[in-house]
Amino acid sequence: MFRPVSVGIVFAVLMSLASCKSKGQAAAMAKPLVASFLPGAALEEKVVVKPDTNQLTPQERKVIFLQKTGEHPYWRQAEAIHYDVRKPNFVIIHHTAQDSVGQTIKTFQIPRTKVSSHYVIGRNGEIIQMLNDYVRSWHAGVAKWGTIVDMNSCSIGIELDNNGREPFPDAQINSLITVLDTLKSRYLIPDNNFIGHADIAPARKNDPSVFFPWKKLAEKGFGIWYDEGQLVAPPDSFNAIDALKIIGYDTSNLKAAIVAFKRKFIVRDTTPELTVYDKSVLYNIYKKY
Ligand SMILES: [Zn+2]
Repeated sequence: MFRPVSVGIVFAVLMSLASCKSKGQAAAMAKPLVASFLPGAALEEKVVVKPDTNQLTPQERKVIFLQKTGEHPYWRQAEAIHYDVRKPNFVIIHHTAQDSVGQTIKTFQIPRTKVSSHYVIGRNGEIIQMLNDYVRSWHAGVAKWGTIVDMNSCSIGIELDNNGREPFPDAQINSLITVLDTLKSRYLIPDNNFIGHADIAPARKNDPSVFFPWKKLAEKGFGIWYDEGQLVAPPDSFNAIDALKIIGYDTSNLKAAIVAFKRKFIVRDTTPELTVYDKSVLYNIYKKY
């Protein structure tokens, strides 16, 4: 049964906004796939014509798929009228490890790659939005931060055009800050929830690289940094592994977690052991959580 579930309608609208231009899109929008939203009981009586899926573009089929996803048809359905869409609560920063924005856009548009991000930012500062903020991009992969194991569902992915072996130009970082500022104010994302891909997948990923200016970003409220003039040795009771876990790191591969931590905060040394100095940095950051 093709029910006029309004959450689905929200997704349909979002997907129309987010979708690439397709031949059938104009027609689909002029003649909605489902009834337009009406509050209350009127929905129960609305007659909806099931579309002939053979006539639909892949993008329109995706809209229908999203409308049906999340429904449990064997349970009684009654529609509440107070809701909106879920908001992202994290931003994950990446470097593309590719050579150009054009190459990255192409990668995100080839069916077999199964990867994407919401934004791509060029070396010259150009900002390209590739997905609506509300849809789930495929940028995190297998990842974990704290107890969250589905980072794609709660985050925005931002890819910086960078091959991983070069500094990030000022124009690119300034554009990134503009995007982060917009996202932070629009979705009320906490300072500490601006993190890197390597933070959430330390055993698989190393982006963004040691060239990424985490300190500069933290000073503007995106991410966290330590108090450089106030480092002290932690007490004997301090447990470094627990501290990494409390910050969010998955310590199941402890060496990888330490390297991810050091790539971000120590920078000049990314060996998989915590020195006395590294522990003082970790202790300082841990106390902020
Ligand atoms: Zn990445």
